[in-house]
Amino acid sequence: MPMKPAAASSGKDETRAPSIPTSPAARMGDRIRRARLMAGLSLRGLADALDGEPSHTQIAKFEAGEVCPDSKQLARFSQVLKVRPDYFFKKDALKLETVEYRSQTKLGEKARKRLEEQAYEFFERYLEIERILGIATETLGCVDLSTKATEELPAAIEQAANDLRQAWELGMNPIPNVHVMLETHGVKVKTLEPEEGFDGFSAFATDGGGTKVPVVALSKRWLEGKEKDLPRFRFTAIHELAHLYLKLPETLSHKEKENWCHWFAGAFLIPREAFEERFGVNRVKIALNELIAIKQEWGMSVAAIMKRATNLGLVTAGRYKTYCIVANKNRWNVSEPGTWVGDEKSSRFEPLVLRALAQEFITSSKAAGLLGISLPELGERYTPLD
Ligand SMILES: [Zn+2]
Repeated sequence: MPMKPAAASSGKDETRAPSIPTSPAARMGDRIRRARLMAGLSLRGLADALDGEPSHTQIAKFEAGEVCPDSKQLARFSQVLKVRPDYFFKKDALKLETVEYRSQTKLGEKARKRLEEQAYEFFERYLEIERILGIATETLGCVDLSTKATEELPAAIEQAANDLRQAWELGMNPIPNVHVMLETHGVKVKTLEPEEGFDGFSAFATDGGGTKVPVVALSKRWLEGKEKDLPRFRFTAIHELAHLYLKLPETLSHKEKENWCHWFAGAFLIPREAFEERFGVNRVKIALNELIAIKQEWGMSVAAIMKRATNLGLVTAGRYKTYCIVANKNRWNVSEPGTWVGDEKSSRFEPLVLRALAQEFITSSKAAGLLGISLPELGERYTPLD
C-alpha cells in the first residue's frame, strides 16, 4: 500500500512529515511526534500522561516546530515516552518511501504507526553505526515488471528469483538462515513484538544523503513462543523482500500483488529446477511424508510447497483443492505437520556497535544509546581484551 504524503492530507492526519525537517525546532518537533506515535499515544493521550503539563495544544506547537520545549519538558517527554533524551536531538531522520503490509485488515491505523516508528527508530540506529564504522550502505536493485502482461508474470518472477539468488551468490541450495541472508545483502530487518493482524511490512527508507535503504519489519510471532513457525517467518520475510525487489504492474489489485509476492517467495526459497527434481512432474497421488521431507530440507511450509507445485503446473488445480480441504479439516493452518530444524536469529547490529566501542569510535554512553540499553547492561555484554 503506498503511503500518502502528508502534504496531501488534512491537518489532523498524523502521517509522517513530507520531507526531513531541517531547522532545529522542526527537527525536534518531528522527533517528539515520532516518539509519541511510537508509544501509540494521541496528542491528548500524551498530555494526559504528562498530567496536562504541557497541554496538548502546546505539544502540537512543539511538534509543528513553532517552539522548542525547555530541558525540563524534554526530560518529562523522555520519561513518559520511554526514549533516551538524546533521541530528541538526533540529526539523522529517515523518510519512508512506501510501506507495504502483508495483511492490513486487522491492523488499525494507530497500531500501524506505532510499529512503523518502533522499526524506524531501530533502522536509524543501524544506519548510524554503519556510518560511524564507514560501512557503505548497500542498496537493492529492482526488477521492472510493470509492463508485463499477467500471463508473462510467472516466467518473469521465476527468472527474477533466480537472478537474485545468483547476484547474492546463493547457488541453488536451501537457504540456511533467511534473516542473516537479508542482513548480509543490505536489507535491514527488525523483528517486532507480536501484534494481532501484523505479519510484516517492507519499505524503502531514504536517509539524509538520499540513499534508499531497503527495510523489512517482521513479527516475532513465528520466530519464538507458542506459535513458533520458522518456515512461515522465512516465507513472510521473502514475501516482503518481493515487495521491494519487484516493480509489479500498477493495474494489479492489492490482492493480486500479494499473490505474486507469494509466488516470488516460493520461487526464491525453492528454485524451479530444484523443486521439479525433488517433487517430480505430473504428480497425481502425493504422500504427506514427501511434503514433510521437502519442508525439513528447504524450510518452507507444506502449504507453500503444495502451492508452489500448483503454480509450476506439477499438480492440477483439482488436486490442490483436495489438499486444501484436507488441510482445513485437520486445521493445518494452525499447526502443520513437519518441522524445520534451523535458526532464524540474526545478530549483526550489536557486534557493530561493540566494534565501534572497542575501536573507541564511540563512547560507552553512545554505545548504550545505540543499543537501547543502560550502561550497566552494556557492561554485561562488553568485555574489552586489555
Ligand atoms: Zn505483501
